[in-house]
Amino acid sequence: MQMANNVEFAVSRIASVNPATGEVLGELDTAGPAEVRAAVFRARTAQPDWNVLGVRKRVGVLRRFQQILLALKSDVARRITQEAGKPLIEALLTEVLVVLDAARYLIDNAFEILREQKLPHGNLAMKSKAGRILHEPFGVIGIISPWNYPFSIPATEVLAALVAGNAVVLKPSELTPLIALELQKLLSEAGVPDDVFQVLPGDGAAGAALAGSEIDKLIFTGSVATGRRIAQVAAERLLPVVLELGGKDPMIVLEDADVDVASSGAVWGAFMNAGQTCLSVERCYVHQSLYADFVGACCEKARKLRVGNGMDPGTEIGPMINERQARVVESHLEDAQQRGARVLTGGVRLREFGPTFLAPTVLANVDHSMRIMQEETFGPVLPIMSFSDDAEGVRLANDSNFGLAASVWTNDRAHGERVARQIQAGTVMVNDAVSCFSISEAPHGGVKSSGLGRTHGRWGLEEMVRVKYLDSDRIPRMKKIWWFGYGSGFAGEMKSFLDLLYARSLREKVKAAVNSAGALWRRKL
Ligand code: NAD
Repeated sequence: MQMANNVEFAVSRIASVNPATGEVLGELDTAGPAEVRAAVFRARTAQPDWNVLGVRKRVGVLRRFQQILLALKSDVARRITQEAGKPLIEALLTEVLVVLDAARYLIDNAFEILREQKLPHGNLAMKSKAGRILHEPFGVIGIISPWNYPFSIPATEVLAALVAGNAVVLKPSELTPLIALELQKLLSEAGVPDDVFQVLPGDGAAGAALAGSEIDKLIFTGSVATGRRIAQVAAERLLPVVLELGGKDPMIVLEDADVDVASSGAVWGAFMNAGQTCLSVERCYVHQSLYADFVGACCEKARKLRVGNGMDPGTEIGPMINERQARVVESHLEDAQQRGARVLTGGVRLREFGPTFLAPTVLANVDHSMRIMQEETFGPVLPIMSFSDDAEGVRLANDSNFGLAASVWTNDRAHGERVARQIQAGTVMVNDAVSCFSISEAPHGGVKSSGLGRTHGRWGLEEMVRVKYLDSDRIPRMKKIWWFGYGSGFAGEMKSFLDLLYARSLREKVKAAVNSAGALWRRKL
C-alpha cells in the first residue's frame, strides 16, 4: 500500500512490452483512485495561472514543443515502434508528423479561434444590446487514450486542451504508457508546468477512476464498449464528453475507378499499422465489372508486403499489439470461413517473426451475416464484396452500426463526391483512405456508434472551451419595454411590432409601421 493525501491505495503494476520481440521495456505503478484524485486536485490548483498566461504565451510554448519534437523526431519514432510495433516510417508519418502539424495548426490559428468576438445580431427589438462571445477553458480536462496511435492521438488532444488554457490529466493505454511519459517530458521541456500536464499510467481501473473524478470534461478514444461505459458514468453528473470510438470503414470502388490505384489504396488502407487503425479499410465493395481484376491485384500486392520487426528498414507490416488482439482477428476469420468466406491469401500466423504476427489476408465470398463485415476486426484483413450499381454500394456501406470514415474510389471526382455525400460517416475520402487524420484543419470523429464530438481542427479546439455569451446593454438607464406592466393593450402592440419586423411586402410593412406607431403613441412612450 502507498499513501496519497493521507488516503491508502493498492499499488498494481503494468508492464510495457515490445510486441515484436516480447522484451519488457519497463514496469510502472498504476494510478489508484486516490492518486487520480490527487492529480486532478493538483491540476485544478495549477490551471488558473496557466490560463492567465493567455493564448499567445501558450502558443509560444507550443512553438518550443514543436522545435524540440522536430529535433528528437528519430528518437521519438523509435520509441513508438518499440512500444507499439508499427514500422518506423509509420511512426514518423502517422505519429510524429501528425503531432508536428497539429502544433503548426494551433500555433497559426488558436489565437484567432479563441479570441473574444463581437456577436452582431439582427433582432431589432434587442438593438440596445452589444453581444460578445468568450471562450473559457473548462478547467481540468481528462484524456483517456488507446494504444494504436499512442503518441499522435493523445498529443493532438493534449495540445488543443493546453493552448485553450486547461490543465490536463492523461491516462494512456496500459499497453503504451512509456510514449505518453515521453510526451510529458517533451512538453515539460517546452515550458508546460508539471501539474498542468500530468500522465497517470494505469489500466481500465485507472481510466474509470479518472472518468469518475472531479474533471470538467473528458476526451475518450477507444472501443465502443468502453465508450458506452464512460457515457453512463458521465451521464450521472452530466460530465461533457467527446467519444472517439471504433470504426468499420467501408471502401467503395466505383465502376470508373482505376484498378491499379484503388487496389494499392485498399492494401495500404487495410494493412497499414497491421490493420490496427480506427480509420482502416475494414470492408471493401467493388463494382462487379472490376471485381475479378481488383481482387487479383489486391492478392498479388498483399503477398509482396514485407512482414517483420518495425525497426528493420523496409518493414511494412508489424505485429498485432498482443495475443488478445490476434485472437479477435482469428475469431472473425473463423466465423467468416464457417459461413462460406474464402481466404485468397494469408489467413495464418507468421510465427517465424514472432508470436503475434498475422499474414496480410484477402477474403472473398463475404456477406453481411459475418462478424468480419459487422464488427471491428482491427487486423490485417481485407474482405471484398461486389455490388451492381452505386445505390447498392451505398446501401451496403451504410448497413453498419459504425460511421467513422469511408472512402470512394473513381476516376471521376464529381461522381465520387456525389456518392460520398450519401455515406453515413464523419469523414468520407475520395481516392484515399486513413490519411485524413494527418490534415490538422479537418475535424475527426464519427456518427452512429463511432462516437460523439470532434477532435482536430477548429472543431476539436472548440471542444476544449466553454462558450460564454456576454450580453451588455448600451443604454443602462432605460427600462425595457418587455418588462412587467404589460397592460391590456400590450399583446396588440406586440402583434403590430412583429408584423413590422417580419412582414414581407413594403405595403404590409408600412401598414404595420402605422399600427405600431399608433400603439406606441397610445402607450405615451
Ligand atoms: P479500449 O476501449 O480497450 O481502451 C481505451 C482506453 O480506455 C485505455 O486507456 C483503457 O485503459 C481505458 N479503459 C478501459 N476500460 C475503461 C473504463 N471502464 N473506464 C475508463 N477507461 C477505461 O480500446 P483500445 O483497445 O485501447 O483501443 C482500440 C479501440 O480504439 C478500437 O476500437 C479503435 O477503433 C478505437 N480507436 C478509435 C479512434 C478514433 O479516433 N475514433 C482512434 C484510435 C482508436
